[in-house]
Amino acid sequence: MSERPASSRPLAEVVGCLSDFDPASVPVAQASAIIERFVTPIDDIEQVAIRDALGRVLARDVLSPIDVPAHDNSAMDGYAVHGASLLADTPTRLAVVGRSFAGRPFAGITRPGEAVRVMTGAVMPAGLDTVVIQEIVTVEGDSIVVPPGQQAGQHRRRRGEDLVVGGTAIAAGRVLTPADLGLVASLGIAAIPVQRRLRVAFFSTGDELRSVGEALAEGEIYDSNRYALHGMLTRLGVEPIDLGVVRDDPIALEEAMTRAATMADAIISSGGVSVGEADFTRSVMDKLGEVAFWSIAMRPGRPLAFGRIGDAIYFGLPGNPVAVMITFYFFARAALCRLMGALPTPLFPVRALVDAPLRKRPGRTEYQRGVLGRGEDGVVRVRVTGPQGSGMLRSMSQANCIVVLHHEQGPIAAGDPVDCVPFDGLV
Ligand code: AMP
Ligand code: MG
Repeated sequence: MSERPASSRPLAEVVGCLSDFDPASVPVAQASAIIERFVTPIDDIEQVAIRDALGRVLARDVLSPIDVPAHDNSAMDGYAVHGASLLADTPTRLAVVGRSFAGRPFAGITRPGEAVRVMTGAVMPAGLDTVVIQEIVTVEGDSIVVPPGQQAGQHRRRRGEDLVVGGTAIAAGRVLTPADLGLVASLGIAAIPVQRRLRVAFFSTGDELRSVGEALAEGEIYDSNRYALHGMLTRLGVEPIDLGVVRDDPIALEEAMTRAATMADAIISSGGVSVGEADFTRSVMDKLGEVAFWSIAMRPGRPLAFGRIGDAIYFGLPGNPVAVMITFYFFARAALCRLMGALPTPLFPVRALVDAPLRKRPGRTEYQRGVLGRGEDGVVRVRVTGPQGSGMLRSMSQANCIVVLHHEQGPIAAGDPVDCVPFDGLV
């Protein structure tokens, strides 16, 4: 566990700065702002080999120990020449006196009227600054004839043009991609500092829940939320800690939350935050930590508790399986990214034309499951996936995006553009 508490600002102070704040119905944008202000990134570093760094959060800037490229080199296959010696209006004849290939530089010195055969990536021979591509040159024995019209300095990559010694190759906070691993290797760096993995404890609440493998009695259902959460947390690159199912009982809930807070940086529960059940969730939070808000102006997912238990941040997600995924994607994801020290990773919506009218009332944000595709006419369109009941996981599984209908938006007509967040960009 980090020595520093994950979240150090008192929540009351964070929400106290907001005017017209109503913890029982917080607009989506305000909820995101509260989460961002409240969550303090961890700073607990470990050194890992490049291959183990994929998807991890870079903890310190990677500075280049070398110039990249390390030498002026040729960008094309052709001939290295002295640019200022080329004749402006008539062809220039030059003697080819050697070759410089990638990894095998030309060691000699050229005199006026001489050229060196070069291949892409080859170090530029001393004194030569220009490359003439092989396709336009006429070869006559050991000489070449270069047509007029060449630019001095062309087709040459300059030493340090990508990075100079001491320059920032990758800034801290980056969630490392395959390209980043290649870049680090190109600098000759074998291991880099990353933030330790976040530990996220999660559990389901509900007397009706059974785990897979158990027999169902009348009125019982299988717990699916823990599996969807496990998948989303794993993709986010955190260490998921599955605490199982907790009964609908304040003492059991308090025990689970206390235990979770001792072992994790963040806690996620599902269920038990809707009207009726919410009261004891909230009272346990008040006792063990703080609660910032418990309801958001959104659909699905209206009941959503956010706060702190001990040093861990806490999300009390709704019970409905679709609402769990939506609230995770649009709230918990950003909070966990911030907590793990990652730079903000905004979701990039795709604008698409919706195929049918959508009912929507201003004053809350609505999220619908959609299938995004490009028609033969090249236009990007989205179809919402039939019934949007928040317990219907099958439509979530069939969808490839979430259509976001914003707080202030009213009804949408067929053919109107809407914002769609592709699942690929979520986690
Ligand atoms: P709650 O917020 O606890 O009232 O739950 C709302 C709905 O979601 C109820 O129909 C619950 O049975 C269902 N639900 C709650 N937790 C889960 C879960 N872990 N897996 C599947 N369904 C759940
Ligand atoms: Mg319940």
